[in-house]
Amino acid sequence: MVDFSIDFQDTKIAFADKTDAELREKYRLFKLMNSPLLNSIGTGAAKFALSLGLPVDGLIKKTVFEQFCGGETIDECQRTIERLARSGIGTILDYSVEGKSTEAEFDATKEEILRTIRRADGDPYIPFAVFKVSGVAPFGTLEKIGTGQPLDAKGQVKYENLVGRVHEICALAAELEQPIFIDAEESWIQDAIDHLATEMMKRYNTGRPIVFNTIQLYRKDRLQYLRESRREAEREGYILGVKLVRGAYMEKERERAEELATDSPIQPDKNATDTDYNDALNYCLDHLDTVAFVAGTHNEESCRMLARLLHERSIAHDHPHVFFSQLYGMSDNLSYVLAAHGYNVSKYLPYGPVRDAVPYLIRRAQENTSVAGQMSRELDMIERELKRRKR
Ligand SMILES: Cc1cc2nc3c(=O)[nH]c(=O)nc-3n(C[C@H](O)[C@H](O)[C@H](O)COP(=O)(O)OP(=O)(O)OC[C@H]3O[C@@H](n4cnc5c(N)ncnc54)[C@H](O)[C@@H]3O)c2cc1C
Repeated sequence: MVDFSIDFQDTKIAFADKTDAELREKYRLFKLMNSPLLNSIGTGAAKFALSLGLPVDGLIKKTVFEQFCGGETIDECQRTIERLARSGIGTILDYSVEGKSTEAEFDATKEEILRTIRRADGDPYIPFAVFKVSGVAPFGTLEKIGTGQPLDAKGQVKYENLVGRVHEICALAAELEQPIFIDAEESWIQDAIDHLATEMMKRYNTGRPIVFNTIQLYRKDRLQYLRESRREAEREGYILGVKLVRGAYMEKERERAEELATDSPIQPDKNATDTDYNDALNYCLDHLDTVAFVAGTHNEESCRMLARLLHERSIAHDHPHVFFSQLYGMSDNLSYVLAAHGYNVSKYLPYGPVRDAVPYLIRRAQENTSVAGQMSRELDMIERELKRRKR
């Protein structure tokens, strides 16, 4: 067997396409975000200023937005797409508008998602499109479906509209042979999303993966769900497409379970989540004939394990059913080093009007202070790279 070694601490590769000035700017911003106090003052002030209609868009755009987003339009993302492509990294255009509520707004979001699919068509550096079902449908309707509550006549119309939008998005993706992810969301709307995603996979994933559902391994029941989904796909003769993530709504999930005095769907501790996550990677790798999967993670150990397993089993690093993915602006050490070793890597690149991206940016800021050590690790690497360059 060929020896396996991969060095995720290789800051020279991780920051190869960043100038000294860009690194210093990133350092300054991450340092601010790493302070819980400044972070909460900053996010609170941003929300407050925006709610008063103060012109803070420009300031946000020049700082956090630039670090974590590609621009306000698809065209503005072009520079970043090309830059990532030069390092062998793909871009996933993620239209990050949230919290809309009217049917007209949902239609507008659907149209923008269709544009991202058309933009990706034929571009090897945009391997996937992506959307959130709650971006094209009322949350309340999804919740009713997800929790088995009846819909009134109006609700029924809204449901039919949402099904129509999801069908239109996936039909265009299939027509253009453009793989697309459906993001996972809160557990109380996830059954509705799973149902739609499975229907779309049955229809479009024969012979090759087009539609990818997302599985959150911080849920206790999801490893079993992954196994059942794969067996169903095998029985029905289609490829199961899955994006494996740990899950982003942990606090909300726990709060809701407490409020309703029900058992929390979330694993008892981080270790249990990590174990199920890595078991899910292994399971997918054992069934590559019927599963195509994406490891959507910033966890170094999970990335190392998957990279090592591919290598040890002599599976091509760029096997068409195995992908790694990170968020733009985060964990470049994983993305750039994996790409340099020939693995399939892409980054979610959120874009959209600055105002609409604020909830996304606030989540990033909060996640970066709450995920133990993530921000400190990033800061440490930038510091080491700046020192290395001075030598
Ligand atoms: C490309 C990409 C796509 C994504 N798409 C989605 C999506 O569609 N839906 C979604 O929900 N999220 C999505 N995420 C976010 C993801 O779910 C995680 O929140 C985030 O990536 C952090 O987890 P990690 O694997 O990177 O690393 P880590 O830092 O190792 O793990 C942190 C995660 O572990 C879990 N965790 C932490 N503490 C505990 C605890 N005490 N008990 C149990 N579990 C714990 C939580 O899920 C937490 O987010 C995506 C992430 C990426 C990179």
